Formats: sequence, structure tokens, C-alpha cells
Amino acid sequence: MNYFSSDFKLGILGGGQLGKMLLAETRKFDIQTYILDPSKEAPSQFGAKQFFMGNLMDFDTVYEFGKRVQLLTIEIENVNLDALDTLEAEGLPVYPSPKTLRLIQNKGKQKDFYEDNSIPTAPHQRFVDLNNLKKSLENETLEFPFVWKCAQFGYDGNGVKIVRSAVDLVALPDVECIAEEMVPFKNELAVIIARSVSGEVKTYPVVEMEFHPEANQVEYVICPARIDEKVAQKATEIALNVSKAFNHIGLLAVEMFQTKDDDILVNEVAPRPHNSGHYSIEASYTSQFENHIRAILNLPLGNTDSKVAGIMVNLVGEEGYAGQVVYENIEKIMAIDGVTPHIYGKRETRPFRKMGHVTIVNENMTEARKIAEEVKNTIRVISI
Ligand code: ADP
Repeated sequence: MNYFSSDFKLGILGGGQLGKMLLAETRKFDIQTYILDPSKEAPSQFGAKQFFMGNLMDFDTVYEFGKRVQLLTIEIENVNLDALDTLEAEGLPVYPSPKTLRLIQNKGKQKDFYEDNSIPTAPHQRFVDLNNLKKSLENETLEFPFVWKCAQFGYDGNGVKIVRSAVDLVALPDVECIAEEMVPFKNELAVIIARSVSGEVKTYPVVEMEFHPEANQVEYVICPARIDEKVAQKATEIALNVSKAFNHIGLLAVEMFQTKDDDILVNEVAPRPHNSGHYSIEASYTSQFENHIRAILNLPLGNTDSKVAGIMVNLVGEEGYAGQVVYENIEKIMAIDGVTPHIYGKRETRPFRKMGHVTIVNENMTEARKIAEEVKNTIRVISI
């Protein structure tokens, strides 16, 4: 198949920042790309050959969009899977497959999958609703504390709560959920794996999430992780086992906990480009976005090694500001060597909304980490 400067059309379900960064690669290769997203202000609306507005959970909308393209991928997991099943049955290549997406869309199913495939993960219990969970507390088959997670449609931690006592139950919505044992972790790690249609596999280095000591928010994604080589090897091996078990096509980002005893437990996966791989645009030989496109089109995968140390800082809306966004001090951070901001193109800021990210690259990790802190303390996402 000739994808380059041809009539071939790639479809992407979802037009957020991940779609926008995928479009930078399809533009580079001159591959026609169609995007479907519910928002008329989607970050991907300008870079696409054609942008369609529509509900990603609606069967007809997704099916009709699929009929316009020769290959379909996603940048968000919450899409209508029945439409993807039908399109796939009619011969359209869909990567990742609806089968993989079905296992991942529901956190309960995803956790069962790890247990069935002997992949280390925190013990969990599944509940059809909140009442069901409360009954388990009453008959003492579930105990405080635990981590509550809604089974579907949670994102960026908004469907996750630490429940320490009965008081914390009041705020929980009445939805299908899981209760997970709390992991006393010392690090959160991630590994991104690219797997092509023909089965070629390449692994990105292990990255580390550094948390704010009080706010419990990820502040920096650091590549390579500053961990023992043995722990990095173990994390990579486990991520590869997860990749084999899913048999996915495209990227698979595997999020893991490194426990106090240096065990590795899988937290969750995403079958697409991931926030933990944004550093790769500037720091790697081949970015995660380029490798996702290469993998789904069955092209040779690019080198996943890093050229330099890379750190990513998320740009989220400052608390207390809502409305037309302003990136205060952006010029100041751009004056520092090796600092590149990515602005996603969302006009309105809200507290904690992901508005962009900044990558810091440097030959030296200690220096990169210092600059990352300076960036974090300088730029502010506020409103007019
Ligand atoms: P999301 O899908 O919203 O990103 P995650 O399952 O990744 O949700 O959870 C969000 C955060 O909550 C994790 O990054 C981690 O800091 C914390 N967390 C999740 N599960 C556990 C657990 N079992 N023990 C301790 N902390 C957890």
C-alpha cells in the first residue's frame, strides 16, 4: 500500500492533543488524515485533511466516519466499540482492535485480564454499583483503606479516590467500580511499547513520574528513570509481557508501581500515545507519535532510544483562573536552552485542565532536572 502523497486516508477517532501530535507526523509523511471529535474547538481541527464533528460514542457517527477511511485508529479509548466491530468485520483495519479496547475500556475487565495472564498487579474486587461495595464492607469481605476506581470513563485521576473510612464513601458516585488494595509505592514508572502489524516490537526506555511532595500531582515525567538498572530491566520485561498478552497493534503505554521492596505492579495501560511519552518528540530518535503511525501502517519501526535526557512538565490551568487562556512568562522559559513548549490550542483554561506541556532536553540529567524546576516555577497558565 502506498500511503505517502496518495489517496489513502487514515482516520483517527478523537481530536484532542494526542490527535494533534499524531497529525504532526502524518503531515510530515504527507498521509491524508481524517479526524472525528465532538468538539468544534478540538485541538486537531486545523491539522487534519478533514475534520468531522460528532459523538464518538454514537454507533452511526463512528460507523459512517469509518466508511470514509482505509484504516482507523484512536487517540481516546471511549469510542463506540460495536461500530468498530462492524467496521472490522466488513474488512476495515482497526488498530488497536475493538477486542483490545473492550478489555481496556473497563478497569474491572482490565484487572481481571492481568490476573488471568499472571501479570503482577494490586489485588482488586469488582462491584456492579456502590451499594454492592457497601455490602462487602458490611460483611467484612472488603476493608478500609482501599483505592476506589470507577470502572468506565474516568480519566486523569478523576475516577480514582482513596477511601480511608465511611466518611469518604459519601462523595462516591453510584457507578460500576473496583476497589483496589493500596500500594505503598516509591515510584510510578511507565514503559511504552510499539508493536507493528507484522509483530515487530520496540520498547522505549523506562520513565519515572516525579510527584509534588504535598499536592500528590505528577510534576515531571523523567526519561530515563533514575532507578537501578535491575529494576528498569524488570519493569521492561513486565511491560513486554503485558504487550504480548494484549497482542495489541500500535502503541501500548504500561503504567506501573515500583513498591518499597522493588517489586513491579502493573497499574493500567493505554493502547495509544500517552502523556508519559511526550518527551520523545524532542529527546528520542523517533517520537511515540511517529512510531504509532509506523506500527499501524506496518512500516519499519523507528529507533526508540533517547538522544539526550528528557523531562516533561505538564501545563495545567492554575487554580482560581477560568476563561480565555494566557501563558504567563512563556518567553522567559523559551529563552532557556533546550526548552520547548507545546500549546494544545484550547482557548479556555480551567483549574487543572491540561493545556499543554513543556519538554526540557539536556546532555546532563541533573541539569535537565534543575531547568525543569525553573520552568515549573516560571510559567503560569492563567486567564485574562
Ligand atoms: P487514571 O486512569 O485516572 O489515570 P489511575 O488508575 O492511573 O487512574 O490512578 C491515578 C493515580 O492514583 C495513580 O497515578 C496513583 O498515583 C494513584 N493510585 C492508583 N491506584 C493505586 C493503588 N492501588 N495504590 C496507591 N495509589 C494508587
